[in-house]
Amino acid sequence: MQKLMDLNLILLYGDNPVDYSSVDFSGKSVAEMFMALEAFRFRRDAALVGETVLPDQHAFTWMPTMANNARAFPELNALMFTVAIVDDYGDVSKMSREELYATIGYVLAHEISHNFDENGSKVDINGLERDWWTEEEQAAFEARVQKVVDYFSGISVFEGVNVDGRVVSAEATADITAVQAILRLARQHEDFDYDAFFRYYAKQYAYFSNYKWELHILGDDPHPLAYLRTNVVLQQFDEFNKTYDVQEGDAMYLAPEDRILVW
Ligand SMILES: [Zn+2]
Repeated sequence: MQKLMDLNLILLYGDNPVDYSSVDFSGKSVAEMFMALEAFRFRRDAALVGETVLPDQHAFTWMPTMANNARAFPELNALMFTVAIVDDYGDVSKMSREELYATIGYVLAHEISHNFDENGSKVDINGLERDWWTEEEQAAFEARVQKVVDYFSGISVFEGVNVDGRVVSAEATADITAVQAILRLARQHEDFDYDAFFRYYAKQYAYFSNYKWELHILGDDPHPLAYLRTNVVLQQFDEFNKTYDVQEGDAMYLAPEDRILVW
């Protein structure tokens, strides 16, 4: 609990941007440019070994401020948001409660979950790597995560190609936990528009893709494919079933005993 109360929120913004001017892109292919950037970042990080690094020094070259990104950082018991992701949401004062909850609220809750998941549970409040849960707590948590692993591993994305549940379990857990937390918050509002909330949630994962790209992501990304981040997450909740009258026999229906809530 104390770890949750002490959680820091760090905004990475551009008053001390990383200086990439020494990276030479001339005559390089895209792949070579990518490798030059990686080499630059590696050298920069390697030079910091043994140094004391403060978060606002923007030493986090893996998270450029212009990238639309947010992440948990258990070593600092923190969530980090780039200025780009905040800017991308536009004027939040104009958002409805449902849009706010489905977008920024969901992202915040997702990142908080990471500080208490299979990675975060191994880093204590001071950012030190140690088991701070009892063995029983750890075992109970792992048993629930195993359900997430098994469920995702049973999903066939293309004929003969299944998800590897072990790869996506931490991100899937963060998604499910985030929506669970937000729906609990929603209960406090009698006039909460669940249909609008679920649509805003789904919209952020709508994108064009193709077979090759999806196959590439499947083998490379710890996040589940976008359609699974929508469908599998939402089918866990009674609020979703009630809003769209999902009944046993419907493709999205998941019996309560088969659901994979971790918390
Ligand atoms: Zn995540």
